[in-house]
Amino acid sequence: MRIDKLLANSGFGSRKDVKKLLKSGAVLCNDAKIADPKAHVDPDSDQITVYGEPVQYREFIYLMMNKPKGYISATEDDRLKTVLDLLEPEDAHMKPFPVGRLDRDTEGLLVLTNDGQLAHDVLAPKKHVPKTYYAIIDGAVDEVDIERFKQGVTLDDGYVTKPGKLTIIKSGQQSEIELIITEGKFHQVKRMFESVGKKVLYLKRIAMGALVLDESLELGEYREMTEEELALLQ
Ligand code: URA
Repeated sequence: MRIDKLLANSGFGSRKDVKKLLKSGAVLCNDAKIADPKAHVDPDSDQITVYGEPVQYREFIYLMMNKPKGYISATEDDRLKTVLDLLEPEDAHMKPFPVGRLDRDTEGLLVLTNDGQLAHDVLAPKKHVPKTYYAIIDGAVDEVDIERFKQGVTLDDGYVTKPGKLTIIKSGQQSEIELIITEGKFHQVKRMFESVGKKVLYLKRIAMGALVLDESLELGEYREMTEEELALLQ
């Protein structure tokens, strides 16, 4: 691969930054200076160093984000802020994209990667990766709702959902619930509650499969996923 791509992917800034770095003579390939951004190197067998430090090449990036309200789960938008706006430039340069969507006003677990295969596998409807949501609902959620969600409810467009596992954390004028669903229809959780005459006031995704949101991440913060966390998604 081209040295400028390798360096940009490894956190050394944009292609333009990398070009400057190469020109400065800071980059060596197998102890020889390399200055041409178009030069090809083999990330597996060539030893690349920048200011004497070996470069750890990473092709893929896997991030866990605690998505805040106010950001859309897209890679670009003319008007609205996207979750990519929350990334450091060295991570944004790797061109990650969100694995699945959360509404603009939904918070919580969002995985971002540039690994298209992983994203495809996680999102494939056949895989039925369960997603767990915490929500605050206007009104008292009760046993009838649990049973209806278990049977599958009919959404406003006539679609009948797969069974959802609803757990009541607190029932009252405002209820707190946890809901596990295996699909990802547009506004699914909100529309499931609408179908039983209730409104979602707050929604947060807390898990995808066995991958649980790291609650030490503040809203808008993110970090690289560990090998163990990644394995939970595969
Ligand atoms: N269901 C919704 O209604 N919104 C989300 O963001 C995710 C699931």
